[in-house]
Amino acid sequence: MTASTILQPGQIEPPAGDIPFLLLPARDSFFKERAARFRQLAANHKMGDFLEFMAGLADAQHAALAHFPQASLPDSSRLALSREHGMPALAARSRARDPAWRKALRDIAEAASAHAPQAVREAVARLGALDDASLEKFADAILDGRFHDTDLALSPFVAAALQVYWLHMSTTLGAAAFGRTDLDNLCPVCASSPVASIVRIGGAEQGLRYLHCSLCGAEWHMVRAKCSNCESTRGIAYYAIEGGKGAVKAEACEECGSYLKILYLDKDPLLDPTADDLASLALDILMDETGMQRSGPNLFLLSA
Ligand SMILES: [Zn+2]
Ligand SMILES: [Zn+2]
Repeated sequence: MTASTILQPGQIEPPAGDIPFLLLPARDSFFKERAARFRQLAANHKMGDFLEFMAGLADAQHAALAHFPQASLPDSSRLALSREHGMPALAARSRARDPAWRKALRDIAEAASAHAPQAVREAVARLGALDDASLEKFADAILDGRFHDTDLALSPFVAAALQVYWLHMSTTLGAAAFGRTDLDNLCPVCASSPVASIVRIGGAEQGLRYLHCSLCGAEWHMVRAKCSNCESTRGIAYYAIEGGKGAVKAEACEECGSYLKILYLDKDPLLDPTADDLASLALDILMDETGMQRSGPNLFLLSA
């Protein structure tokens, strides 16, 4: 592992002018592109079978989103109130979930198990035996980050359905429904932690860094050379696996002892935060040796 030189604040600041603060995922292509990326990463990868499974799961997420049933959404006065108070309107831990997410869960589990190995089909059968109250408890555990409380073979399906549900809500409401919040390290849509950050290319976002939500896939702007967890601008260092092309690095902060991966689209335009984070598990293992803690979850990491 190599650590690059420490950057000083101001060295790479975003250009002046209009910066799009919030980018919502493209509903029609988000999960389809993630599936394609998982397939690409699976080739010649030690975790190839798992990444192939994740590709199938992303395909199932795409289909479930396309057929997502009617679900209740906050009305315009509720949204205005959230914007006024700087609160995420679709906060993952406090919002009552519409039962529609459980329909997405059944669809995803059924689709993903169609050509899956025996172990996956058994997991799906166990999932099918859970009643609604148990599924709601399961969802609470995932959204609270209590992954150890869950059946790890079932958690990818539940996490996948929750992602689809939140993406359905955010893209139905549109980016204008959401305002800035006081907490820069949490998603302004759903108040979840980011899975990674991404340095974008092209258009108004050229060279800008966005944090990518681990749950709803929304991206929000944060200046570079600043810890995405504690906002310190001192003691930020970048770590990468030797011999790689530098598209995925770990951005580590001495102040709070945490790290989050940062992805560079100019090094690889097909990067997907969720997929590339899972495929670069080796970097997490190396970071673990430095004693640094990840500051944001990947909802599929534990099952990896
Ligand atoms: Zn979010
Ligand atoms: Zn920090």
